[in-house]
Amino acid sequence: MKLFERIPEIKQEIKSLKQKGNKLSFVPTMGALHFGHLKLLEEASKYADQVVLSIYVNPTQFGKNEDFDRYPRDLAKDLKMIEDNEIKVDYVFAPTTHEMYPFSDIPQLAFPFLSQKLCGISRPTHFDGVGLVVLKLLNIVQPDYLIMGQKDFQQTVIIQRLIDEFFLDVQLITVPTVREKDGLALSSRNVYLNPQERVQALILYKTLKAIKEQLHLNMEIQEIEKILKAHREAIKLLPNVKLDYLEILNAKDLQPITSCIEKGMKIVIAIAAFVGKTRLIDNMVIEF
Ligand code: AMP
Repeated sequence: MKLFERIPEIKQEIKSLKQKGNKLSFVPTMGALHFGHLKLLEEASKYADQVVLSIYVNPTQFGKNEDFDRYPRDLAKDLKMIEDNEIKVDYVFAPTTHEMYPFSDIPQLAFPFLSQKLCGISRPTHFDGVGLVVLKLLNIVQPDYLIMGQKDFQQTVIIQRLIDEFFLDVQLITVPTVREKDGLALSSRNVYLNPQERVQALILYKTLKAIKEQLHLNMEIQEIEKILKAHREAIKLLPNVKLDYLEILNAKDLQPITSCIEKGMKIVIAIAAFVGKTRLIDNMVIEF
């Protein structure tokens, strides 16, 4: 495993790898690695000879009052976790912000429709920042495969749009969400939860699971809305939990369902909630 902090150096290395005919898989992360990230890395090595992992807490995707400053950062611990679990990672790219954003006037990349729903309502600049940093990372790493988690479903839709919009030569692979035994989706932010909040956090998974069981083919939008309303109201009664959103949308383009659940339709049930001060997200995708 080779560690790079500088862009020219990793670019040089990748250039020579590609000249030798190697295929590359790329897993971008913000570090604070957990088994969800390790699963992405394992998948990555199924697709290509070489696996590149980036670890970078990207400031442009955090809003003013978000957790950029307190986001957990421990590169040595992350590298040890990869080694201890014998995960194949060939290159780690861990740049500084000066390296990633060398100019003070940072250009804007906006996804007006996709980035303003679900998480985009309470985090209006988040996905623009994600799109920008992923575009930069893709230009640096030039991977054949980009491996991302379904856990951040809206992110995968926006990154697919980024790839299509800019005609990027990379294939997006989405990996199913890795969960704790009781269903809680693994997240770097779970470390913020105290033991009581850890229990309360289960409401996200439980809600998704309950709704999944209630949905069926040909269900009309009015009935879907009724189900959502009942769950939103139930969550409102919980202490220390504040629902941000609970929605059911078309998975492909995040458009609302207009009439009913039709055969062949792929839908996403998406939820975000604050448990104490920690904002958690989760989703389930169902194909009918
Ligand atoms: P992050 O470091 O949180 O930005 O996440 C980096 C990548 O890991 C993203 O593609 C996430 O979707 C993915 N990821 C995060 N949590 C999970 C999980 N529980 N299961 C699978 N992938 C995940």
